[in-house]
Amino acid sequence: MTERFALPPSLAETRNYVDGAFVATGRTFDNVSPLTGRVLARVHEADAALVDRAVAAARRALDEGPWGRSTVAERAAALHRVADVIERRFDDFLAAEIADTGRPLAQARQLDVYRGVANLRSFADLGKTAHGDFFETHLADGSQLINYTTRKPLGVVASISPWNLPILSLTWKAAPALICGNALVCKPSEETPSSATLIAEAFDEAGVPPGVFNVVHGFGPGSAGEALTTHPGIDAVTFTGESRTGAAIMRAVADGVKEVSFELGGKNAAIVFADCDFDAAVEGVIRSSFTNTGQVCLCSERVYVERPIFERFVAALKARTEALKIGWPDEPDVDLGSLISREHREKVLSYYQLAVEEGATVVTGGGVPHFGDERDGGAFVQPTLWTGLADNARCLNEEVFGPVCHLAPFDSEDEAIRRANASDYGLAASVWTTNLSRAHRVGPRLHVGIVWVNTWFSRDLRTPFGGVKLSGIGREGGRWSLDFYSETSNICIKV
Ligand code: NAD
Repeated sequence: MTERFALPPSLAETRNYVDGAFVATGRTFDNVSPLTGRVLARVHEADAALVDRAVAAARRALDEGPWGRSTVAERAAALHRVADVIERRFDDFLAAEIADTGRPLAQARQLDVYRGVANLRSFADLGKTAHGDFFETHLADGSQLINYTTRKPLGVVASISPWNLPILSLTWKAAPALICGNALVCKPSEETPSSATLIAEAFDEAGVPPGVFNVVHGFGPGSAGEALTTHPGIDAVTFTGESRTGAAIMRAVADGVKEVSFELGGKNAAIVFADCDFDAAVEGVIRSSFTNTGQVCLCSERVYVERPIFERFVAALKARTEALKIGWPDEPDVDLGSLISREHREKVLSYYQLAVEEGATVVTGGGVPHFGDERDGGAFVQPTLWTGLADNARCLNEEVFGPVCHLAPFDSEDEAIRRANASDYGLAASVWTTNLSRAHRVGPRLHVGIVWVNTWFSRDLRTPFGGVKLSGIGREGGRWSLDFYSETSNICIKV
């Protein structure tokens, strides 16, 4: 038993947070550690009736409670108070995130807990400086109009989030939705219920009025996710997860013509030109393929390398990959934790198998590490490199969401762009070059929402974030989030 990766005591029974109260239900499911396979906690699943109570509480908070009449300054202060609580309970949040996800401590600290606080504080501050537009119009008959825009909240927003970056994903949606004056019902992933429940504790302690922020636990189809997205009382859905789940949610809200913002899957390309800073590109691709054990929507699973440096690059990446340390989250210098679950490992391993059937050369990895201790009951997998697949191989077109990338040589800039764009997905790409003109030429031609040049996953929260094609609908980040989470009205006055 490894108690150092236990959950904070309040989560032993992980409850829903509805109308300002922590609610247990008769029906529970297990939260299982991906590090060891042991049960961490019992999670109380919300049924349709509890989801209905949460939606009704959110509506009441807007129509009858103080939140509906609050000023943006008051809402910003509330978000800062929530951030204060998270900072004070930093170690609890870290413990919850590590226990649920099995990721290295340093990554949980930066990618989740720091980023969660940053999301809350950034959107609190951004909301205070948001402003409308003004247009003066002179008509042919000499009369004049003035137009100005106002923002109103959408109402009750349903937020459905994935397991890969739980605190980051939840606060990325909650902070802008709340600063715009909405009330929220959040459904975190069934794989990672803990940090969302701690965030509810933070809202509770920060004195945010009942009903403004609700958390319901459960699964998708036939459970809390479906009950929430089909509920007639919600006004919009913000969702992060798999593309096919996005399609199911779109169908669920179609009759009600609800607004959606979707951040979906990716099959992201990295393009490495021969003129790159070689060592920086190797380190960059190591990060972009293996961060969070490859479970970031932005990870590069397709790496195109210009032919003159291809063999050298593959050899360098192989050496670096084999030097990566897989282990316990708190081991010094650990690089990779576990995958999220045994079930997800089955999916990743099925792609490892398929790649071989499709003719890949396995440069390194392709299996499961053996530790000889309780980690053998967990969901660890080896980081893996492939070469030699044809462009139409399934492994090069479907999202694996594990620590794996395929390397292929290319001969020209046009070819690299064409092959990078030949995907049903279009979330992110990274380009490695020291040629400034090339960077500006290639970036805009990539059919994705986000291009990084000589870096990866570097975020300024004011910039737009989202994908094209199967990777999503809409943009969030900075003013794009404020645009999504509010209704803009135009007021036109004849003067
Ligand atoms: P998932 O789609 O399986 O689940 C996401 C959430 O949706 C969970 O809370 C789940 O319970 C819920 N859900 C599932 N079916 C539902 C339904 N029919 N109705 C309502 N809710 C439903 O995704 P996941 O496996 O948790 O996350 C991994 C995926 O998320 C990957 O594809 C990854 O690329 C994507 N992702 C995208 C971004 C982005 O910003 N584009 C960020 C993180 C993750």
